[in-house]
Amino acid sequence: MKRADFLQRLREGTLLCDGAMGTQLLARGLAPGECSDRWCIDHADRVQAIHRDYFNAGSDMVTTNTFGATRSMLERHGLDAKVREINIAGAQAARAGAGPDAIVLGDVGPFGDFLEPVGTVTEPELEAIFSEQIAALHEGGADGILIETMADPGEATVAVRVARRVADWPVLTTFAFSKIGDGSFRTMTGATVGQIAQTMRDAGVDALGANCGTSLSLPEYVELARQLVAAAGPVAVILQPNAGSPGAGDRRSATPEEMGQVVPMLLDAGVRILGGCCGTTPLHISAIARSITARKAQ
Ligand SMILES: [Zn+2]
Repeated sequence: MKRADFLQRLREGTLLCDGAMGTQLLARGLAPGECSDRWCIDHADRVQAIHRDYFNAGSDMVTTNTFGATRSMLERHGLDAKVREINIAGAQAARAGAGPDAIVLGDVGPFGDFLEPVGTVTEPELEAIFSEQIAALHEGGADGILIETMADPGEATVAVRVARRVADWPVLTTFAFSKIGDGSFRTMTGATVGQIAQTMRDAGVDALGANCGTSLSLPEYVELARQLVAAAGPVAVILQPNAGSPGAGDRRSATPEEMGQVVPMLLDAGVRILGGCCGTTPLHISAIARSITARKAQ
């Protein structure tokens, strides 16, 4: 998909992403600790079914099951020889499941370590890691790239640069924020909303925002959304809240109805792309879709 065509779609209205992949894989038999990305080649039918469920629930965009499919992450499972195969299969599974009308976003997660000087990985090494994955996602037929759950703006900048080089397609980035003691939102590396927005605008993304905010409540996501929109300027803001924080059980989980109810506030805040992260299901996505439609009709 050409970048200009994506931006045109965004001008026409809100775009809806899908919900969580991990919970859906677990529900279909993924064992805890098993390499979920490997399911793109071992259980493509089940991965396709998840994409189909989300498309049928109202997702305009589906995200490939390749969050950990970089060489650096796959080698933890002894699968570093399968980077290309898994990413191509991941893009193909999304297309096969969601169909020709869906926008397939190739999913790129954190590479699992830190850039120098905090870690030992150099920028050229990181470029090579992301290039291998992103080129394979393109080869498999992805329409664009979603670089998600980022913490370090430097790492995300490298990924955006690589994605821009691979094709003329949309590139979106989301960061995982927490609310800290002084009331501000920060990523795990301490980056502020303003720093993230500025860095991603400079990198040339088509949308920037947040996903997977550990322990954020829905009202806190609304507050974060307002800050992101203020800092993003002309760049579209994407928000994919959790319906429950990973590891917290159901204690904080939001129901589909609660998620649907927060949608008008997020749209009022100026969010242009919605979706869900951990704990969200096709039911959450269809509640969000209904809420977007109801608002359009007003
Ligand atoms: Zn998440």
